[in-house]
Amino acid sequence: MSEHYQHRARKRFGQNFLHDAGVIDRILRAIHARQGERMLEIGPGQGALTEGLLSSGAQLDVVELDKDLVPILNRQFAGNENFRLHQGDALKFDFNSLGAAPNSLRVVGNLPYNISTPLIFHLLHNAALIRDMHFMLQKEVVERLAAGPGGGDWGRLSIMVQYHCRVEHLFNVGPGAFNPPPKVDSAIVRLVPHDVLPHPAKDHRLLERVVREAFNQRRKTLRNTLKALLSSDAIAAAGVDGSLRPEQLDLAAFVRLADKLAEQNDAG
Ligand code: SAM
Repeated sequence: MSEHYQHRARKRFGQNFLHDAGVIDRILRAIHARQGERMLEIGPGQGALTEGLLSSGAQLDVVELDKDLVPILNRQFAGNENFRLHQGDALKFDFNSLGAAPNSLRVVGNLPYNISTPLIFHLLHNAALIRDMHFMLQKEVVERLAAGPGGGDWGRLSIMVQYHCRVEHLFNVGPGAFNPPPKVDSAIVRLVPHDVLPHPAKDHRLLERVVREAFNQRRKTLRNTLKALLSSDAIAAAGVDGSLRPEQLDLAAFVRLADKLAEQNDAG
């Protein structure tokens, strides 16, 4: 039995290893890595995607938290001059240290589901570096990322990701593609940072704040949830009906509220 099969999957690291060759191939085709591209894989695990990414001739950095996987990955890939392994936590990784040109880095990963949301936020703070991202996530999370206003999936994650990126829900993957199988369905999502933001906010942090406050109590009206930040008059002056609930507002309306808050802060 090879060492590959001796590693026992660890729950605390969110380890569900892909083993379905058809699914692996479909993901690699969606990513379509090419010679010379700068790629970053988060959580390579035992290398299910790594091998195909390297065979394209791309220059690949990988970040893996589990120290026990380091020798397994090095044995397979360290001989390839395009491969660089960083052992550590992707949530703390400094993406600027890779020296990639702006708008060049292609990020991929079958992500540990427990860190997927904070990791996406961490990556969005470095959106200027990134050309695109392909992730395997819990299907419900992909549905939230790709949602539009008006339904229960529309919330902080959808809005902050769509502020920065175009989102494509590519396809779903059942539990049987993994070892061990997770309890949930999964899906592949593509996130492409906008070249020009469609709805730029004056201050991005104020947008985060307004969205967080608004969705803290998603059943209440905006007039109610935002009252510590904006008066009813200020909400109306932003062209927003304060009697609506947050899930009824689109991204542009949230940006108008954040810009109203910025104006108010400048005046005060
Ligand atoms: N890419 C492999 C595959 O598709 O078979 C493994 C996917 S597994 C769902 C998630 C991987 O992320 C595991 O190898 C796990 O050890 C690693 N991981 C977990 N938390 C991490 C973190 N904070 N930073 C980097 N890697 C992490």
